[in-house]
Amino acid sequence: MSEHPTIGDTLEQTVDRYPDRDAIVYPRKDQQWSYAEFDERVNRLANALLDAGIEKGDRVATVLYNGSEMALTVYACAKIGAVFTPLNFRLPAGEIEYIVNDASAELLLFESATRESVEGARPALETVAEYVYIDDDVPEYATDFYELLESGSADRPTVRVAEDDVYAFIYTSGTTGRPKGVVHEHRSMVEHNLICIAEGRMTRDDVGLSIMPLYHCAELHCNLFPRVHRGATSVIHHEFEPQAALEAIDEHDVSLLFCAPTAWNALSLTAAESDVDVSSLRLGLYGAAPMPEQVLENCREHLCEDYLQAYGMTEIGPAGVFQPPEDQLSKQGSAGVAALNHELRVIEPDGDPDQTVADGEIGEILIASPCTMREYWNRPEATERSLREHDGTTWYYTGDLGRFDDDGYLYVVDRKDDMIVSGGENIYPAEVEDVLFSHEAVEEAAVLGEPDDEWGQLVVAYVVADDVSAEELDAFALESDHLADFKRPRAYYFVDDLPKNPSGKIQKFKLREDEADVDPEAETIA
Ligand code: ATP
Ligand code: MG
Repeated sequence: MSEHPTIGDTLEQTVDRYPDRDAIVYPRKDQQWSYAEFDERVNRLANALLDAGIEKGDRVATVLYNGSEMALTVYACAKIGAVFTPLNFRLPAGEIEYIVNDASAELLLFESATRESVEGARPALETVAEYVYIDDDVPEYATDFYELLESGSADRPTVRVAEDDVYAFIYTSGTTGRPKGVVHEHRSMVEHNLICIAEGRMTRDDVGLSIMPLYHCAELHCNLFPRVHRGATSVIHHEFEPQAALEAIDEHDVSLLFCAPTAWNALSLTAAESDVDVSSLRLGLYGAAPMPEQVLENCREHLCEDYLQAYGMTEIGPAGVFQPPEDQLSKQGSAGVAALNHELRVIEPDGDPDQTVADGEIGEILIASPCTMREYWNRPEATERSLREHDGTTWYYTGDLGRFDDDGYLYVVDRKDDMIVSGGENIYPAEVEDVLFSHEAVEEAAVLGEPDDEWGQLVVAYVVADDVSAEELDAFALESDHLADFKRPRAYYFVDDLPKNPSGKIQKFKLREDEADVDPEAETIA
C-alpha cells in the first residue's frame, strides 16, 4: 500500500478484514462472490490486462450496462494504474467515436446490448488495439472477457500506483455541450468514499442495490465504491426495472438504494400496487434534482422513511452537498449543506470567491472540495475557467446558480448559462418551466431566451403538449401566483420532442443553436 491508499487498496483493505463477507451479487449471471473471491478475479483481470500490453496510464474504455464486469474492470484498472474510462451505454456511434478518440483509449469492453453502436464507431477508433466482449457470442475481432480473466495470475499485481496517479476519466453528461473528460486521481476518490460512508451512515451490514448506471459517477463513486471500502454488499442489476428492483430488495434484504427522482417516482408507483416486502430498506439516496414533494410523499408511504439528497457534479466527485433525512420535510426543495471537508460559497457570477452575495440572493455556486478533479482532459481553457486558486484554496466554479436561505441551506436555482436577461430583469427558466409543467396538458417544457433588439432577450418556451394552445398556456401562466408578468413566455414553440442527452437532461444548447431536430409550430403571444 502506498502512503495514502489508492482505490485498489480500498478493496484490499476490505479483503484483509472481511474476506468471507458478500461483495458482489449479480443475479443475471448467477454470480455471488465474497470479497476474497471478488478480489481474486480482480487480480486475474488486472494481470491479464498487463499481459495484453496495458500499461499504467493507458485508458481502458467500457461501453457496458451494469454488471459484475464493470466492478471487476474498475478495480482491475485501479490496481495497475490503468485509467478507467466508462462511457454511457446509450451513446450512439458518433458519440462513442468522439469520447474514445478524445481519451485515446487502448482497450474497449462492450456487450451485445451495445454492439451495434460500438461497431458503428469502430472504423474511426484508431487508438483501440483490443476489443473485449462480455457475452457468449463473441465477435471474431474481440477477446472473450471470461477467457481473458481466466488467463491472468491470481497474485496481487505488483505495479506501484500512487495516490496522485490518475484513476479515471469520467465524461460529463453533455447537457451544456460536448461531454468533457474529467480527470480524477486516486486520492480524491478515496476521500470521496469516506465522505459518502459518513453521510450515508454506511456499515458493513448494509446491502446496496445498483440500478442506476455504473458508468455515471453518482452510482459508481457514491454507492459501489463506498460499499466496497466499507465491506458492505453490492447487488447489481443490468438495468432499471421497477418490479425487479422491488423483488431484489425483498430477496437480498437491500438496505440502501440510490435512484434519480424520476426512478424513485416509478418505484413508488409500482410499490403502491405490489405486496413485495421492502421493509429492509433503511435509506433512499438521490441526486440530479430535488425530489418533488408528491414523489417524496409516495416514497415515504410505500418504500422507506428516510432520504439523503446529494448535489454535485462529475468534476467534484460528484457529491459536495448533502441534505440529510432530518431536513427532508423542513427544507423541501433545498440541496442541503456542504458535505464534510467541503466549503460552499454563492458569489457574483464569474466573480472572485470573495465576492459573495447576501443570503437570499442568487449567485454562482462555488465549491472547495478535497475530491475536485485534476483537470478536464485536453481542455486547458475549460479547466482554467472552472478551477481557480484563491488564497491557497482551489475553488470549482460550478456554473450553477443558487442561493442560501437564512439557515445557510443551499437552493439550486438553475444553470448560469441558461439565465435569461429580459428588459434588465433576471429570469430563471427552471421557475417558468415548473409553472408550465403544472399544466396538465404539458409533458415537457424548455424555456430559453431568444435575442431581441428591444428587450435584449425574449422569453420563449419549447413545449411538448397534448392539445393546448399558446393562448391557453399564456392564460395559465398569467393566473399563476408564482410567475411575475415579465417572466411569461412571449412565444410558444410546440414540438414533438426535445433534444436530450442519454441521461434524459434537456440540451438547451441544441435549441439555441438550432441544432435540434425539431420542427416547431410557433405561436406568438401579442
Ligand atoms: P455537462 O457538464 O456535460 O453539461 P452535466 O452538468 O449535466 O453535463 P453531471 O456532472 O452529470 O453533468 O451533472 C451535474 C449537474 O446536475 C449539476 O451541475 C447540476 O446542474 C445538476 N444537479 C446535480 N445534483 C443536483 C441536485 N441535487 N439538485 C439540483 N441540481 C442538481
Ligand atoms: Mg456540468
